[in-house]
Amino acid sequence: MTRISLLLILMIVVSCATLRDPPMSEFARAQTMGICHVHHVKMKRKSVPVVYGLIHGNVLGPMEVRLNRFPHAQEWVGGGCVIRNGKYHVKQWLYVCPECQKAEQEWLNENPELAKSIKRFKEMLSTPYYP
Ligand SMILES: [Zn+2]
Repeated sequence: MTRISLLLILMIVVSCATLRDPPMSEFARAQTMGICHVHHVKMKRKSVPVVYGLIHGNVLGPMEVRLNRFPHAQEWVGGGCVIRNGKYHVKQWLYVCPECQKAEQEWLNENPELAKSIKRFKEMLSTPYYP
């Protein structure tokens, strides 16, 4: 087999690999449909606070764990670091999965230090700034 043939096969394999939906596309589709793509159950639509600014990974734990095991557990939305045109939202609608929340709680039971950090974060969300 020539080098060009091998290169073409490699390009086809890489192209096919990139066609698979990344986790965020699955997340976005589930948020549109209201069905959790991990647990395949109907989610509950809730009005949740929008959090602005950079939230350090140490506060919430590894993002890959959240996206793979309980992507629809959180009851807040990240608003980004920049408020454009002076417009920002305090609340936003979000689908929340009860099975994701159970999985998150099990994970937090195994990680008590992280559980403390997330508890403080949720307490911050209940302050008057986030009505
Ligand atoms: Zn779920």
